[in-house]
Order: sequence, then C-alpha cells, then structure tokens
Amino acid sequence: MSTTTRHNWTKEEIIAIYNKPLMDLLFEAASIHRVNHDPNVVQVSTLLSIKTGGCPEDCGYCPQAARYHTDVEGNDLMSVSTVKAQALRAKSSGSSRVCMGAAWRNVKDGPEFDQVLEMVRTINKLDMEVCCTLGMLTENQAQRLAEAGLYAYNHNLDTSEEYYKEVISTRGFEDRLQTIENVRKTNVTVCSGGIIGMGESIEDRAGMLVALSTLNPQPESVPINALVAVEGTPMEDEKPVEIWEMIRMVATTRIVMPETQVRLSAGRTQMSREGQAMCFFAGANSIFAGDKLLTTPNPDVNEDMKMFELLGLQPQKPFIKLMQPETVEAEDSKFQALGEKPKWSRPEHKIERNLEAQAKGKEIQK
Ligand code: SF4
Repeated sequence: MSTTTRHNWTKEEIIAIYNKPLMDLLFEAASIHRVNHDPNVVQVSTLLSIKTGGCPEDCGYCPQAARYHTDVEGNDLMSVSTVKAQALRAKSSGSSRVCMGAAWRNVKDGPEFDQVLEMVRTINKLDMEVCCTLGMLTENQAQRLAEAGLYAYNHNLDTSEEYYKEVISTRGFEDRLQTIENVRKTNVTVCSGGIIGMGESIEDRAGMLVALSTLNPQPESVPINALVAVEGTPMEDEKPVEIWEMIRMVATTRIVMPETQVRLSAGRTQMSREGQAMCFFAGANSIFAGDKLLTTPNPDVNEDMKMFELLGLQPQKPFIKLMQPETVEAEDSKFQALGEKPKWSRPEHKIERNLEAQAKGKEIQK
C-alpha cells in the first residue's frame, strides 16, 4: 500500500483497485485516508445557483440545458446582496465554503462577470472559502477571479475522455483540460470530478480517475456525484447508482489521490446514513450542504448535522490547507477585461439520446 501521491496511474491498475474484495478495498482506502487527513473532520460546502437554467450546452444529465424540457425555472444572475445573505446563512449552519454556479458555457467579460467578481470579494471578506463554477475560462479571467479572492474553481471532467462523446456534444474533453490548465496558472485551487451512473462502464470510471490523478498537481478537491436522473433529460431512465458502486468509487478515488478532498456530491438523498458513513470511512471528507444542489434535491442541513453528531464528525474550519487569499478591489486591479473570444471546440457529433430528448422537449413546449 502506497500512501504517497503518484501521477502515473494506469487504467488497468485503477480497475484492479476498484474491483478488489470490498473489505480489502475499504481497509486500504481508510488506511491511506488516515495518513493524509483527520478521519473525523468533514468539510461542508454550500452550493448556490447564482444563474439558473437556459444553458446552451447539451450535457445529457443536466436539467439546466435549455434544449431539454424540465421543471427547472430559469433565473437571471443573483444580486450581490442576495448572495451575501445566503453565504451568511450557510456560514451560520457550519459551511466553510460557498460554491457559486452559473449555467454558462463559458465566462464572458462584461457586467455579469464583474458582478460575479464582486460576489467573490464579498464572500472572501466573510472569511469563507469561495469557489465558482462558471464554465470555460481564459487565463485572464482566472487571474481576475484569483485577484478578487477566489479560493477554488470547479470544472468537472464528468467522465472518461472516451465516454465524454456519449454525454456532451457541444464541447470537447480537451476544453475542460484547458480551463483547468488556465486555473493552474493562478493560486486558485482546482476542484474537478465527475458523475457515475450515466451508463458508463467501470473502465470509463477508471479512465476519468486516470485523467484526474495524472494531473500534476492533482485537483485539491474531487467531487463524486451519483446521477440524479431528472425527467425531461436524456438520462431520465438511467437506473439509480447502487451504494456499493459509490463506496467503491470513493475508495478508489481516495487511493489514487491520497491528499485530495473527496466530496460526496449529488445523489446523497438516495443514500442512507449507513451508506454515507461507509463513504466517509472509505475516504470521503467533504459534502455539499443545503436542501438543493443547483437544481437537484439534497439532504436538509439539520439532517446532516444530526448525522455528523451521530458519527462524531466535525465540520472543517476554512483555510486549513491554504492561506486565505487577499482581495484586491476592482479599482486596484492589475488585470483588465480583454474581451477575448477564445475558440472553444464545438465537436457537434450526434448523441442520439440527447437529440431525442431535445425533440421531445420541443414537442411538449408546442
Ligand atoms: S452541466 Fe453546466 S454546462 Fe452542462 S448544461 Fe448544465 S449548466 Fe450547462
């Protein structure tokens, strides 16, 4: 058992770990977890949808894609004061991090991005870690976020490079890697993970972990989501992920990325407390709190706090791993909006189930 961080994992090695007898897998993951982390401390993040719905992308799992017909109501960008009020509420209920999500393909320079920068400044001044997930990002935009006081940027790889083409047709896997590279040119930490239960194979799960673990440095946090199959999306008929798959995925992630924060993300409402406890034992050490994860349901904060009490877990304080970034005010910024229009790819290959869902959505809207 190696407790050091390696950047040369192969798919075969990761598949072999994933398929180990469960007791061996749990023991190895828990042992590595204890060397690198306090096993009784779990970081709590609150995810806030600052701009909901109407997204031009076609991610097959996402109810916010404008082309599918779901119950998600679109909202314009939230005001800074609303974000501040929500962040204060999250802080008082034990969250150390606020992650702001906007349903955008990529960031565009202009008043809306300026407003997001002001949200970052505001939350950093509340002494909370600030994370954003805003889609694809240029280096200059990453620098501006860093200067405002951003602590982390989330940009999930979602799945393996091979299976990516079965999930999304409006952008390429390489665009994701490029954005992560842009973020890495700043002091902002990287949060990147994926989703299981989208019809992918174990090879694809391992492929995603190869892509993440061979990044150097590895992402500071890796969210593992179980698909929440939402009616109206192309993946509405996917079967729920079994708890054993989630435990195996968490344990394998912990083994190949010993130092990262492994986050239990979407799909927790379908998991029992016992199932979540096994995930914590297997190396998960972060959760999203709040009754909604962008648009999908999540356990109530009080329920989570009861679970923490039952399991003897403590919420992690902010800035344990890295110092709090400084906030530079807009008028003192070294960086200007460049108004860049980078050529993110548009592979536009066909994904039958996405096209079917789109056609069905159009029919319903008539
Ligand atoms: S996952 Fe993000 S990029 Fe994809 S459709 Fe949803 S909001 Fe848009």
